[in-house]
Amino acid sequence: MDAAFFTAWMTRTALGVAAARDELTRLDAAIGDADHGTNLDRGFTAVREALATPPATPREVLTTAGTTLIRKVGGASGPLYGTALRQMAARLPATAEVTLADLADALTAGADGVRRLGGAAEGDKTMVDALAPAARALAAAAGSGATTEEALDAALRAAEEGARATIPLQARKGRASYLGERSVGHMDPGAASTTLILAALRTACA
Ligand code: ADP
Ligand code: MG
Ligand code: MG
Repeated sequence: MDAAFFTAWMTRTALGVAAARDELTRLDAAIGDADHGTNLDRGFTAVREALATPPATPREVLTTAGTTLIRKVGGASGPLYGTALRQMAARLPATAEVTLADLADALTAGADGVRRLGGAAEGDKTMVDALAPAARALAAAAGSGATTEEALDAALRAAEEGARATIPLQARKGRASYLGERSVGHMDPGAASTTLILAALRTACA
């Protein structure tokens, strides 16, 4: 996987987020402040612009994307996703090509970075509920000799399941936690967008 692959991941994420913008905002309207779709659309549009001239290494692609999200997104999701991408970049070797094992290690580091910054554990009804199981699934698949396609499929399925599992939970972090029991019965918007980001990663590989 080279810089073009990681740039394609970010470009496809931008397209996916733009297409799902209203749906993400609708999810955030139910348990937050109705801006998650517009926050991420603004952020990933800026990421696409920042990557118009693709950098030379996967590490540089993710550093640029992460820094751009932190700068452009006012909501909690900007610093959280920005940190995830920057932590991924820091874990990747600074080479032109990285392996599936490198990507799996990096996604684990990204998920850890989100947990550290936001203080959320799995089950708190946040993006961590999709990101952490996806990182585990990717690492397990990479470690058992799966192809890149198979491993990214497994990560996507884990994220989808994790996002669905947020529906019955009561939020303990972020704005949704202000609602207490009224946050029950809705999917967490950040868990939904994490699924989109992993779907874009899967299609970047096709
Ligand atoms: P804001 O809540 O500031 O309006 P967004 O609507 O863009 O920001 O993002 C909300 C999403 O951010 C939530 O659905 C949740 O997944 C995620 N989030 C919020 N706070 C945290 C946290 N402390 N740890 C992890 N994720 C969080
Ligand atoms: Mg919001
Ligand atoms: Mg907001």
